[in-house]
Amino acid sequence: MDSALFNRVAEIVCQLDVYDGAQIEFLDALEVSFDCMVCKRKRRTVIFQLGEEYGRCTPTNKCVGFSGRLVAKMPAVSGDLFSVRYVIEYAYAPFLDVKYDDESIDYPTWARVNFLVRCPKCHEKIKLSTQSNMVRPWTQVCTCGELLYTEIDDMPLLEWREKTYPIVSCPKITLRTRTPQ
Ligand SMILES: [Zn+2]
Ligand SMILES: [Zn+2]
Repeated sequence: MDSALFNRVAEIVCQLDVYDGAQIEFLDALEVSFDCMVCKRKRRTVIFQLGEEYGRCTPTNKCVGFSGRLVAKMPAVSGDLFSVRYVIEYAYAPFLDVKYDDESIDYPTWARVNFLVRCPKCHEKIKLSTQSNMVRPWTQVCTCGELLYTEIDDMPLLEWREKTYPIVSCPKITLRTRTPQ
């Protein structure tokens, strides 16, 4: 698909406040739930990989590919705060779900972000992820017992816009940092 047809932008934002010395490296792949106008099914989990031409709509044997792609990954570090912003461009036009006949929506409803955490004590790198609809607060502990990070708020933040309009967010939550101990 020609990227000129992409009429929506979604941004998936994740922020983790680590304990002293832990380090986070956000990976190039993430999963996001979209309504897919290619296979006309709602709430498909789409796997995006930086550099790939299309997102892979799952199950992949039922869809040739999602009408959009991951165009950027922007990690940032500020003290103990590691954050990332993934930018997805996609095409959307309303449709009815072929199985349930209900109307599609144009924005993402769920996401999972993947990352490596380097433990400051044992120096192991552990592959972890965080996703919408998880029980929080959640404290991640290394296999050696060291505290790595605590999640307080729902994550990731899901934002989207039409290409010519200002960004909107859902759910309406604000990022908060861990209270120092
Ligand atoms: Zn699909
Ligand atoms: Zn450790």
